[in-house]
Amino acid sequence: MSPVAAPTNETGDLTRLSAARMSELLAAKEVSSRELVQAHLDRIDRVDGAVHAFLRTMPEQAFEAADAVDRARAKGEALGPLAGVPVAVKDVLATNGTVTTCGSKILENWTPVYDATVIEKLRAVGTPLIGKTNMDEFAMGSSTEHSAYGATHNPWDLDRIPGGSGGGSAAAVGAFEAPLALGSDTGGSIRQPASVTGTVGTKPTYGGVSRYGLVAMASSLDQVGPVARGVLDAALLHAAIGGHDPHDSTSLDEPVPDVVAAAKLGAARDLKGVRVGIVGQLRGEGFQQGVLDRYAEALGLLEDMGAEVSVVDCPSFEYALGAYYLIMPSEASSNLARFDAMRYGIRVAPESGPATVETVMGATREAGFGDEVKRRIILGTYALSAGYYDAYYGSAQKVRTLVQADFRAAFEKVDVLVSPTTPTTAFKLGEKLDDPLQMYLSDVATIPANLAGTPGISVPIGLADGLPVGLQVLAPARADEWCYRLGAAVEAALEDQWGGPLLNQAPALPEGTASAAKPVSGTEGGAR
Ligand code: GLN
Repeated sequence: MSPVAAPTNETGDLTRLSAARMSELLAAKEVSSRELVQAHLDRIDRVDGAVHAFLRTMPEQAFEAADAVDRARAKGEALGPLAGVPVAVKDVLATNGTVTTCGSKILENWTPVYDATVIEKLRAVGTPLIGKTNMDEFAMGSSTEHSAYGATHNPWDLDRIPGGSGGGSAAAVGAFEAPLALGSDTGGSIRQPASVTGTVGTKPTYGGVSRYGLVAMASSLDQVGPVARGVLDAALLHAAIGGHDPHDSTSLDEPVPDVVAAAKLGAARDLKGVRVGIVGQLRGEGFQQGVLDRYAEALGLLEDMGAEVSVVDCPSFEYALGAYYLIMPSEASSNLARFDAMRYGIRVAPESGPATVETVMGATREAGFGDEVKRRIILGTYALSAGYYDAYYGSAQKVRTLVQADFRAAFEKVDVLVSPTTPTTAFKLGEKLDDPLQMYLSDVATIPANLAGTPGISVPIGLADGLPVGLQVLAPARADEWCYRLGAAVEAALEDQWGGPLLNQAPALPEGTASAAKPVSGTEGGAR
């Protein structure tokens, strides 16, 4: 192992370290997990009033987990690489004994009595879970403005969106409030927030990470994945949460791809013989000039590292967004039928008339769901209704098949596909709130991978007008390691130019505004 310097000599601030570095310092007993948890909770106290990345912090649980790891380490027990490294969790994942709202008012009091599998795995390896992060209600959105608990702000510019639906996780990591976070990606909700906050986010292969305990939005598209500040850190988290889960019938029964080794290999910056395909359909029209400029430079870097770069046509990608906005609402309308005022969350009596099952259900859903959720339930119910099913849902499924065929054909020619992750940098809060279609276009480049079940990563490739731009790398299903290899190569080359991570260039955040995050004691509602 490399010689370990005291953390204070490195940066003076534990929150600035990478998760991989925290892991080394923990292993060398240069720092304790308790110190790391304390440093991050302090940081949240100082800056989360401005950022609003967290809905809840979990200090008691986090310190308990940290102390357990510190004791185990003192005894010389064998521990995994992330033991003791704090992680933030998108509030879409069930946490036993801690309220899980999914950004919705309808779940404002829902205390799960079990852990999502990914949470169970993280607890088992000893990562202190420090809090639940803000998100668009039921993961529907690209800006985190659709949260019932107020918007999250982009750490690069507090007047701008942090992306969505996982804006809380991306902003928490980008603002150094957590080194790692979990997200979920149905159409881009890990990669798009990563792109606009200068962080790294991966959507793993569908089935590669368990969805058990993930509040379902569109079950055939949803995938849990890592959010981090670097590619190796993302790989470490991916490795910790991936793998087969008998509780999830769509879970792949095979080993997690060796993403950590791939990230390390990538950092050597040798891409000789790697075939990279530029998606012909994802550039040009609708893409901001500054985004295209950074993208062109990133392609140049890939060539410099030995990659063979060519343009690959994926004609059906042009229809992917349209297909997604039929399939996703259809599945969501069905999944969200469970919020019936009887089984989960709040229960609201009708204002007048008798309280029957129907009237209570109606009043509860009216009061509990926000506008975007209602819009999608109506759209999905319509698309699935008799008479329209074939025209809308059926056609969308055919497009989905064509998108999958495009990927298959492309991956016969190239090892990976690349595109900008998002067409634009972070837009202003409020700018697209009244224009759902404009908001939906944020995911034009990320959605094809969800329709095909294939993996994708977003890595920062520089700034346009002072705001982060992301590169998306897409790989064949079950070959997630390609995303990490290419992502790490680009990251290593660029950090050399920048003299460190892009996030080091982010402006300092204002401190001292009281955080809106609610610190919870050991359990809420006594549900353990
Ligand atoms: N922004 C997309 C949507 O609104 C993607 C959401 C997601 O990935 N959860 O549906």
